[in-house]
Amino acid sequence: MVIIMILMKDIIQEGHPTLRKRSVEVPLPLSNEDLTSLREMMEYVVSSQNPELVESLGLRPAVGLSAPQINISKRMFVMLAENETFTNYVQWAIVNPKIISYSEEMTYIPGGEGCLSVDEEKNGLVPRYARFKAKVHLVNLETGETKETLLKLSGFIGVVFQHEYDHLQGVLFVDKLNQDLSQVKPIEFIEPTEE
Ligand code: ZN
Repeated sequence: MVIIMILMKDIIQEGHPTLRKRSVEVPLPLSNEDLTSLREMMEYVVSSQNPELVESLGLRPAVGLSAPQINISKRMFVMLAENETFTNYVQWAIVNPKIISYSEEMTYIPGGEGCLSVDEEKNGLVPRYARFKAKVHLVNLETGETKETLLKLSGFIGVVFQHEYDHLQGVLFVDKLNQDLSQVKPIEFIEPTEE
């Protein structure tokens, strides 16, 4: 029996004021309450990548979820995503991230971005930094310990990070649509070939 705390009904939608607020820093060491929120957020994302649970619980699949989306205006998010060559994946619970430098070069996901807090029909091409560095605190969801880490990100994982990071600034991907991407190179997804 799987008990899921967060369901689609708990995810606030475009128009809700919390999605437009700048979130506040998370006090460290992490409180039990914040750790619990992060565990529940991760549980949602993990479950949302399981087709049976998507079906039975009416989940929308996701590779990330930020605290403002469950109406908690704090600077934390989770992500569970594979890179564009399907050779690596990250499962991160992140607190107090800060993008400290970024490339001039931009990129985008050719299939467009979507968001659990925005109507499913709306999706679109969003310019993102091709590469950037971010200082974050990575959370061990077993123990609640945090570790300050410098992440150097690019590609699909980098885009997921930037999408979630934007939520902490009160920004939604729909704010960044309809830009000229004719000079921008999209991320190239390379499906693994069958042996
Ligand atoms: Zn989103």
